[in-house]
Amino acid sequence: MNMITKIDELRKWRNAVSGTVGFVPTMGGLHDGHLSLVKASNDTCDNTVVSIYVNPAQFSPNEDLSNYPRDLQTDIEKLDKYSVDALFFPDDRQMYPNGFSTSVSESQLSSKLEGKSRPTHFAGVTTIVSKLFNLVNPTHAFFGKKDAQQLRVIQKMVTDLNFDINIIPYDIVRETNGLAMSSRNKYLSSEERRRAGILNEALTKARELLGQGERSTEKVKRFISDKILSEPLSKIDYVSIADHMTLDEASDLVQSDVLVSVAIFFAKVRLIDNFEFMIRD
Ligand code: AMP
Repeated sequence: MNMITKIDELRKWRNAVSGTVGFVPTMGGLHDGHLSLVKASNDTCDNTVVSIYVNPAQFSPNEDLSNYPRDLQTDIEKLDKYSVDALFFPDDRQMYPNGFSTSVSESQLSSKLEGKSRPTHFAGVTTIVSKLFNLVNPTHAFFGKKDAQQLRVIQKMVTDLNFDINIIPYDIVRETNGLAMSSRNKYLSSEERRRAGILNEALTKARELLGQGERSTEKVKRFISDKILSEPLSKIDYVSIADHMTLDEASDLVQSDVLVSVAIFFAKVRLIDNFEFMIRD
């Protein structure tokens, strides 16, 4: 694994490489969700590049930038079990040198769902991901469906700005109790983690309701909220059933694909989860 911290080293490495290049951008604190993307890249591409960079631009001032889990040594040990050709872990001065004043923002999808609670988040994401795409120049890039809106924003950016990159979505990896893996789960005690399984339990039961033919978005959303709030550590940020592409809230559930997504505050942590459902009747 080539350990690269400097942009010119990365460019030198990239210029010497041939064949397909798979890219997995992360903020570190690696878990099996991240590693499933690395494996997917190994299975699909001749070369794999992973980046670890906690991007300040996607955190709001009231969020957890300074506490965000950082453990490069453990991350490297986890990546050593895969075929990673280059690990890029730049510092802030590399990515945002003094005087940096350009940003990339997507303006249709980014203000919905997560964007309502985190208004500057996606501009931070699209700016850093477009910088990383320019530096790594991948043929393929792997993103988790855990961050369903992020995936769609990136797909839109790639289309709008003509990045010649195949964006490959990958399934959500979960703990045994269904809790979606997340670097932020480290902020939860083991008891809180166990109880946070309520989030996926609510979504799994909501999927069953839709499967049984329930077509009232209000009923399904209320069911999800009530189930989550049965756990006293939970506070709801939003529960949404939206068109899976436009992310506009769906009113009637007829012949469409929907994204059912939820954000909650649980103990000290903000958790998100989702599933996609195809309405066919
Ligand atoms: P992050 O380090 O949180 O920025 O995530 C880096 C990538 O890993 C993103 O594409 C995430 O969607 C993906 N990811 C994070 N958690 C999971 C998970 N539980 N399952 C699948 N992918 C995930």
